Amino acid sequence: MTGITSTRLSDGRELIYFDDAHAPKTRTAETTTDHRGLPARGEPGEARFDALTGEWVAVAAHRQSRTHLPPADQCPICPTTASNPSEIPADDYDVVVFENRFPSLGPALGTVPAEAAWGTTVPAYGRCEVVAFTPAHTGSFSGLTEARSRTVIEAWAQRTEALSALPGIKQVFPFENRGADIGVTLHHPHGQIYAYPYVTPRAGVLGAAARKFYDAADGRETLTGSLLRSEREDGSRMVLEGENFSAYVPFAARWPLEIHLVPHRQVPDLAALGGEEKDELAHIYLDLLKRLDALYPTPTPYISAWHQAPLDPLLRPASYLHLQLTSPRRAADKLKFLAGSEAAMGAFINDTTPESVAERLRNVTVPASTPSPAALQAALPEGATA
Ligand SMILES: [Zn+2]
Repeated sequence: MTGITSTRLSDGRELIYFDDAHAPKTRTAETTTDHRGLPARGEPGEARFDALTGEWVAVAAHRQSRTHLPPADQCPICPTTASNPSEIPADDYDVVVFENRFPSLGPALGTVPAEAAWGTTVPAYGRCEVVAFTPAHTGSFSGLTEARSRTVIEAWAQRTEALSALPGIKQVFPFENRGADIGVTLHHPHGQIYAYPYVTPRAGVLGAAARKFYDAADGRETLTGSLLRSEREDGSRMVLEGENFSAYVPFAARWPLEIHLVPHRQVPDLAALGGEEKDELAHIYLDLLKRLDALYPTPTPYISAWHQAPLDPLLRPASYLHLQLTSPRRAADKLKFLAGSEAAMGAFINDTTPESVAERLRNVTVPASTPSPAALQAALPEGATA
C-alpha cells in the first residue's frame, strides 16, 4: 500500500506525501513542518462568464508573479535543504502533492451559478494542485521506475476522490505539460491537478456526444467503449494492447502526435480503477511515454490529459475515463502552432496521417527500463566511469 501522510504548509496549504509501497517511511513532525513563515494566502482571482460562448474564463492576473524557470538550486519542488527551503519541507520524498501557491482557481470553494449573463463575475472557486513525480530535479516521467509510476497513479486516484468531494467541484483534471516549448515554467518533473467549479468547454463537448450516443443505445453502450472496440477490430491505428488497457491513435487525430489510452472496463475516473488495472497502467503509461521520446533524438514536448467523467449527474453515466496524450511536434525540428483555423475556428488540420503515426509508435524501439546508476556502472568495462 502506498503510504499517505497529509500535512499543512506555513500558509495553510495542504501537502500530501505519497510513499512508494515497497519503501514505507515514517513521516515525523520534523520532516513535515514548514518553517518558512509564509504570508497568508491571497483571495482567489475571478471567473467571468463569456456570454458569447456560454463558457467561464478564469482571470488570474495575480499569477504573473509566479515562479518562472528558477535556477536549479532554488527549485521550489526539490526537497528542502539548508540553502533552499522549498515548498516540500522533507529532505526526501517519493511523490508529493500540494496546493499551488499561485493558483488559477481557489483557494476559496463555492458554487458557480448555472444561469449567467453578460457581466456575471464570481470568485474563481476551485483548487489547483502540483504533483511532484520524483525528488530528482532533472529527468522526466518516462525515466521513473514502474514502482514510482504506480505511486503517481495512486496519488492521482486519491486526489480525484478527495477533490471530487469538495463543495462546488464539477470536474477533476490531472495533467502534465512537458517541455518548455509548451509553456512549462518549472523543469523539475511534475504535473498538476485542476478541480474546476464548472464543466470545462472540451469536457462539455465530449460529454454531450457521449450522452447522445448513450441515450441512442438505451444505456447499453458508451461512445468511448464503442470507439475502443472499433479501433481494436480495425487494428491499423493500434499502438499497444494490454489486459486492461489499449492505446491507439484516434481515427480523426487532431494533433501531429496523438494517442488515446483507454481502459477496457468503463470507469468514470482514476479513483474507480482496481489494483490490477493500476498495476498495468503504471507499466503501459511509461511504455507510451518512452515511445514518444524514442521517435526523435531529443525529448518530445507533450500534454498528457486525463479525461475523467464530470461530476454532473447528466453527463457522468455516459462518460468514460481515458487519457489523451498529444504533442504539437511534427518533425525533429518542427512544432505545429495553433494558427488561424485551429485557434480561431477550432478546425484542426493535421499534417500527419493517424495510420502512419500509429505504425511509427508501434515499431519504435523502446528501452526496457531506465537502468539505475549502479546498473550503468556495472555495464561499463572495468576502470571506466559513467
Ligand atoms: Zn527541483
